Amino acid sequence: MAADESVDYEALLERAKKKLPLKVESHERFKIPEPDVMIEGKTTAIRNFADIVDTLRREPDHLLGYLLRELGTAGTMEGTRVVFKGKVATSQIVDRIDNYVSEYVLCSECESPDTNMVKDGRVLILTCETCGAHRPVHVRKHMKAEEVKEIEAGKVYDLLIKDVGKKGDGIARKGEFIIYVPGTAKGVQVKVMIEKVSGTVAFGTLVR
Ligand SMILES: [Zn+2]
Repeated sequence: MAADESVDYEALLERAKKKLPLKVESHERFKIPEPDVMIEGKTTAIRNFADIVDTLRREPDHLLGYLLRELGTAGTMEGTRVVFKGKVATSQIVDRIDNYVSEYVLCSECESPDTNMVKDGRVLILTCETCGAHRPVHVRKHMKAEEVKEIEAGKVYDLLIKDVGKKGDGIARKGEFIIYVPGTAKGVQVKVMIEKVSGTVAFGTLVR
């Protein structure tokens, strides 16, 4: 248990360190390059696709997969470009990239683009380098006001620890929420006091 605690403090320290200087810089330097779209016969190319992906700091395949699903077309990467089948309007591409950014890139707490997508068990989580917030990817736009209230800071809940994360924290779920509880083991039913709620991620401590 002591080990879990020390890991947590390290993480907190790291967050605190990153908090101050990054925020200002990040907003200034974050400009998504305008897609350089070119209709070429029966195909449409984004000629600066690699630049866009670099700016967003995401895997090219991830953005490409998203665009193909959203645009309902086929396409492949060719070097630094992406080529879609058919004619696709620039405005459609810009819209979809904007949606991608709000779903998979921007922090929901501070709007910083300095985020990472990490897997915790089977959950894809967006972690923010600027403010330390994390939220599950996908949940943001489906979130409803009443669901948000399922977990509140300062309250105690009976939870089942379903998994243990990379840092050794137990992971419980309640509705859309993921609750991290240090010092627990998988499969254990626990009483948890919620310390902090950030989006749909909550942090709690064991109540004895
Ligand atoms: Zn943030």
